[in-house]
Amino acid sequence: MQISDYIRDIQDFPKEGITFKDITPLLGDKTAFAKAEEILYTLVPELAIDVVVGIEARGFFYGPLLAKRLNAGFVPVRKPNKLPYTTIKKEYDLEYGTDVLEMHSDAIKPGDKVLLHDDVLATGGTAAAVVAMIEELGGEVVQCNFIIELDFLNGRSKLPGKHVAAAITY
Ligand code: 5GP
Repeated sequence: MQISDYIRDIQDFPKEGITFKDITPLLGDKTAFAKAEEILYTLVPELAIDVVVGIEARGFFYGPLLAKRLNAGFVPVRKPNKLPYTTIKKEYDLEYGTDVLEMHSDAIKPGDKVLLHDDVLATGGTAAAVVAMIEELGGEVVQCNFIIELDFLNGRSKLPGKHVAAAITY
């Protein structure tokens, strides 16, 4: 069994011309769900990780599972106006327009070793914005960890010098 068998292509979602990688079949199958966790965990460098940062919303499935396995804390990065305490924000470019992500200003302590996790690395804009926030708070990003990397979109170019790892590459 390969976990890639449980990734489904959805044409023209969320808009025309985009082929969306749907991870819900992976999440919904007990064997595939567990196997993906195992693969994501084995990608992590053998270092003490202080916190796993997961990006809303699909970084919230495996982010906390990885945090538990790594004996680390979990920090959610969220869309605007969802977090209740003082936040830092980062605007980033989308194909058309911009978007904003936020995290709590006390979520990371200077010197923390941080694992960034999300479901998909596409153009890299989202992950790069989160790396910038982690570094603004004094954290050190030890890996950017994804279920899927869409290599043809060259998201890695937005994460220079970072250790990027993915369970599946297209
Ligand atoms: P990027 O900023 O790298 O272009 O886009 C990555 C973000 O958009 C991630 O948070 C990811 O959840 C979402 N995303 C972009 N394309 C896809 C896709 O094909 N499938 C899924 N599941 N998420 C995607």
